[in-house]
Amino acid sequence: MRRPLVMANWKMHGSRASAATLVAGLLEQIDDPRADIALCPSFVHLSQVLDACAGSALAVGAQDCSHMHQGAYTGEVAPDMLADLGCQWVLLGHSERRQYHDESDGLVAAKLAAAVEAGLKPVLCIGETREEREDGEAFTVVARQLQGALAEQSALAGLVIAYEPVWAIGTGLTASPEQAQEMHGYIREQLAEVKGVDAEQVRLLYGGSVKAANAASLFAQPDIDGALVGGASLDSAEFANIIAAA
Ligand code: PEP
Repeated sequence: MRRPLVMANWKMHGSRASAATLVAGLLEQIDDPRADIALCPSFVHLSQVLDACAGSALAVGAQDCSHMHQGAYTGEVAPDMLADLGCQWVLLGHSERRQYHDESDGLVAAKLAAAVEAGLKPVLCIGETREEREDGEAFTVVARQLQGALAEQSALAGLVIAYEPVWAIGTGLTASPEQAQEMHGYIREQLAEVKGVDAEQVRLLYGGSVKAANAASLFAQPDIDGALVGGASLDSAEFANIIAAA
């Protein structure tokens, strides 16, 4: 039985004040959740959010990390620094990183290796664009992203996959539960081929305009084990309702 996992991706939003309000609101509303929960604020708010979540059911993660452990990499943040701070999770290969920072499958693979070595649990984000889906390429793209990130890894402890069709992120369009399940089933089949992975144990999250109103029907699918939530995670009541649906 896979325990559900609901993660918040705050992206580049917030201030110290709004982060404090958001965490306080969540702590008030979440009592003995039946899902694991993690918040991924921006790097600059990590310390504050870690302090606010200490001793609670809320874990904390980063939205990205370097592929290197230390050195002359100005502006980068090493996974070791995140682990040292108290983070448990890190998002890798988010489509906005792939799109705006040209992250390749090779770079995502290197980040994933560094993150696991540092003791972080990686959430590998994959998903096709609208054009790729319309061209019938969705499954090929997802398989390539999975292989590109996982094929050469020597350790994959704590691996989570987030399937986030790019056309559904921040657009208000959500994959139907059937569309999402079809891809999640396919991802689990692909994972069964990866050395060192127990495909039945890996949690597969869906991401793309998840909100309280559509969460339950997505979570009812057999291979959807939770969600990676962007916009709706910035409202504590909405996010708490998504967690309740898990
Ligand atoms: C995301 O950024 O990972 C995401 C799924 O965003 P949204 O929920 O806003 O579509």
